[in-house]
Amino acid sequence: MMRDDNCIFCKIAAGEIPSKTIYEDDSYRVILDLGPATRGHALILPKDHYANLFQLPEEKCAEVMKLAKKMGTQMKENLKADGFNLVQNNGECAGQTVFHFHLHLIPRYENDGQKIGWTVGNPSSEELEEIRNRIMGE
Ligand code: AMP
Ligand code: ZN
Repeated sequence: MMRDDNCIFCKIAAGEIPSKTIYEDDSYRVILDLGPATRGHALILPKDHYANLFQLPEEKCAEVMKLAKKMGTQMKENLKADGFNLVQNNGECAGQTVFHFHLHLIPRYENDGQKIGWTVGNPSSEELEEIRNRIMGE
C-alpha cells in the first residue's frame, strides 16, 4: 500500500483508526463522515494515498465513480433520499481540509436545509471566449 504515515485517512482506510464503514474491499473503504452535511453523508477513500484528483491514477478515477454509483444507489434506496450530491475538493482554496483524495457522497432530502453551491456569476460572451481560449491553450 502507498501510504503517508502522517495522514489520518491512510490510517482510517487501513482500519487503524475505527470508522463507521459502509463498504470495504482491497482498494477502497467508504465511511460515514463525522461532520455530515446530511443524514448518510459518506466518503469514498482509496486505501492508497493520493493527495488529490490530480495524483489519482486514471483507472482509479473510473473505479471511484463506479463505486459512487453503487453506494449512491444503495443509500438513496435505504435512506429514502430524494437526491444526491457528489462533491470532491482539491486544494485549500477549494475547501479541501484532508489531503488524501476522497469523494463526498451526500444524500439529499426535500427540505434538508443544506446548501451546496456558489454565487452565480454573469460573464460577458467575450470573457467566456477568453477563458475558453485560455483553457484550450490557444
Ligand atoms: P474536505 O473538506 O473535502 O477535505 O473533507 C474532509 C471531510 O472529512 C470533512 O467533511 C470532515 O467532516 C471529514 N472528516 C475529517 N476527519 C474525519 C474522521 N476522522 N472521520 C470521518 N470523517 C472525517
Ligand atoms: Zn493518506
